[in-house]
Amino acid sequence: MVSRVIPVDPFDLVVFGGTGDLARRKILPGLFRRFCAGQMPAEAQIIAAARSEMDAEGYRKMVRDAINEFDGQRPDECPELENFLSRLNYVQVDAQGDGGWQELKEMLRKDTVKAFYFSVAPSLFGDIAERLKNKGLAKRDARIVVEKPFGRDLASAQALNKSLAAYFNEDQIYRIDHYLGKETVQNLMAVRFGNMLFEPLWNSQYIDHIQITVAETVGVGGRGGYYDKSGAMRDMVQNHLMQLLCLIAMEPPSRFEPGAVRDEKLKVIRALEPVEPHHIARGQYDAGAGEAGYREHAEDPRSRTESFIALKCHISNWRWAGTPIYLRTGKRLKARTSEIAVVFKETPHSIFDEDAGRHRNILTIRLQPNEGMELGVTIKEPGPGGMRLVDVPLDMSFSDALGPDADEVPDAYERLIMDVIRGNQTLFMRGDEVEAAWAWTDPIIQGWETRNEVPKLYDPMSSGPEDALMLMHRDGRKWREIKA
Ligand code: NAD
Repeated sequence: MVSRVIPVDPFDLVVFGGTGDLARRKILPGLFRRFCAGQMPAEAQIIAAARSEMDAEGYRKMVRDAINEFDGQRPDECPELENFLSRLNYVQVDAQGDGGWQELKEMLRKDTVKAFYFSVAPSLFGDIAERLKNKGLAKRDARIVVEKPFGRDLASAQALNKSLAAYFNEDQIYRIDHYLGKETVQNLMAVRFGNMLFEPLWNSQYIDHIQITVAETVGVGGRGGYYDKSGAMRDMVQNHLMQLLCLIAMEPPSRFEPGAVRDEKLKVIRALEPVEPHHIARGQYDAGAGEAGYREHAEDPRSRTESFIALKCHISNWRWAGTPIYLRTGKRLKARTSEIAVVFKETPHSIFDEDAGRHRNILTIRLQPNEGMELGVTIKEPGPGGMRLVDVPLDMSFSDALGPDADEVPDAYERLIMDVIRGNQTLFMRGDEVEAAWAWTDPIIQGWETRNEVPKLYDPMSSGPEDALMLMHRDGRKWREIKA
């Protein structure tokens, strides 16, 4: 299989917060990989704009160190590092004042695509948007990229949207959810809408339930104070899990283009029913396995923020009525894994005797580790001994299917940044989607607050609290094992 790299047009990319953690760990190493792959053209320019006093040489050194630390490639695999670094520039800018904006304006070239990446705290989004517009840096074709968290409830998300909409049109705003940039997530759309095989079965008549799991082994560690203001519902469910749910449940869009795809995702969110309190299990990891517990990490012995959540959702439309979707995410769990499992119903009648057992097909979409898909099918156990049935996987892991080209699959950030330059918003969240997701999330969180609910403790390196297991058991179902 031959992968095709289509270079993007020359561009000026300004990274506000270019000295920050996200820029050094993800954005710059990602751009370097696209440069090595021949996708970022040599005429492109990346300008870091941040608060620190620094010159271009100092910034290049910072990025060289970051690439050495965070990029998976060995330096000898891409001899282009110095060429890439020569494309970098730096300007000291005060997002809330006047300093640096004129210098930045002079660095920008005429007639190139311009993108402004807001890799800064959301409280600065409005200030930067205002200055870009008022100081004449952003024309009608400029794009801005904003990071999560996009609000902490509906009101704050609306306020953020408003502060951006005052200076930019919706078709200029790229709200990043890096889950949407994952190869498997896009493959999910290819599998659903590029094959005849699945679509006729993709409804409550044939699908018993769907499970979406995003499990991490790490705790909140040094980010405890920050995380404690958010929790698993805000940090993971409202955005990443919600986006996965949309892609798995949406109707086929008329075309694979931004408006059509985002319209269908929005309809799913709006069709989500409010979640019953007894359909939710929240947890906090306990101390153990050589680490402190959540409350110590959060530095609040009375914290009520959840580091784990499981919930059962219903989508009220013709396709999904009666098929629950279970979401589960948490920290300090027994393995780092993200997957979507579509569990089909059993055959309506078994022609085999009882010894053959009852079986069901499961389509598993693995986001990490080892991105790929697996379809469990039931066959006869080979050999003599009568008709005994066994489930075997039809496995498609990308590294097997693509061979050496699998290494060329861009990471989520790389792909999304290239989409910004191309002006393709399909894999970015629209303002109304984000607001609809908060409108569904807010009453759930408000419910815990009104009822003064305390999350249940769970053992580190476990599958989460007992309540989460019960959520499934009550329905006669069980979670898939959390394993790498
Ligand atoms: P950081 O604190 O490491 O970096 C902040 C950057 O903003 C620095 O470059 C700093 O110079 C710049 N800055 C701060 N105030 C400024 C001002 N007044 N004027 C100009 N520049 C200013 O933050 P980070 O971890 O890189 O996160 C950036 C954004 O990305 C945040 O919105 C965060 O929520 C989001 N995010 C981060 C990660 C991550 O892994 N770090 C993941 C997802 C989302």
